[in-house]
Amino acid sequence: TEHLNLADVTLAYGETEIVHNVSLTLKHGEIGCLLGPSGCGKSTLLRSIAGFEPVKAGEIKMLGRCLSSQTENVPTEKRNIGMVFQDIALFPHLSIADNIAFGIKDWAKSEQAKRVAELLELVGLPGVEKRYPHSLSGGQQQRIALARAIAPKPDLLLLDEPFSGLDANLRETLVPEIRDILKHESMSAILVTHDQMEAFAMADKVAVMMQGEIQQWGSAFNIYHEP
Ligand code: ADP
Ligand code: ADP
Repeated sequence: TEHLNLADVTLAYGETEIVHNVSLTLKHGEIGCLLGPSGCGKSTLLRSIAGFEPVKAGEIKMLGRCLSSQTENVPTEKRNIGMVFQDIALFPHLSIADNIAFGIKDWAKSEQAKRVAELLELVGLPGVEKRYPHSLSGGQQQRIALARAIAPKPDLLLLDEPFSGLDANLRETLVPEIRDILKHESMSAILVTHDQMEAFAMADKVAVMMQGEIQQWGSAFNIYHEP
């Protein structure tokens, strides 16, 4: 069944159209990727899924519910979407536990602590609850940012170039790790990247974007093996 559905989505800044008639669907638990050169409209498309940009035409639906259309624009906080962006840092003055629990403050204390411990185990950093972000490496901080984003069990996770601040060696080990974590949580996700290796290592489905349009959309394997 369809989890996320974009139908003929067109996006514009003022008079300038940035994304033209983009359609794609994602099944529950699938990881999709928007792959393309800088400036092709990947972030703009992701921001519209997040609810930061209204659509000029077309429709965005999740779990059968319309999130965006010409007449509808469900606010970001009502979309049940988690986000990890390259430059969204952890809160430096909060402990790791408080960072991860940020989106689940309405849960019972014991449930929060349980979820935090479970996520730290999952991201390979058990026991760091009381530490602070500055005492962790860049890669470790990105794992915590991921834990924070998925703690409330969002319906969809958006990842905008989450690895681009990290060095190549670290990226190579972190990408498959993060994929495993998302698969373990059956998390539906969309990754934005300009890095082909990252796209194919991470995603089930890849959309190759050029100048605001999807050139190809399919399994990583099929796209890689087409001329
Ligand atoms: P990508 O994520 O693929 O690098 P973006 O979605 O960031 O691409 O940008 C697509 C195009 O939209 C670029 O030409 C960029 O300059 C333009 N753009 C992005 N944000 C804005 C904005 N807030 N106002 C006007 N133009 C924008
Ligand atoms: P990226 O390529 O990583 O998406 P950009 O440099 O394109 O980053 O954009 C960085 C920020 O500047 C974004 O918030 C984007 O919306 C904004 N932006 C990009 N291009 C323009 C533009 N032409 N006019 C206004 N804002 C822009």
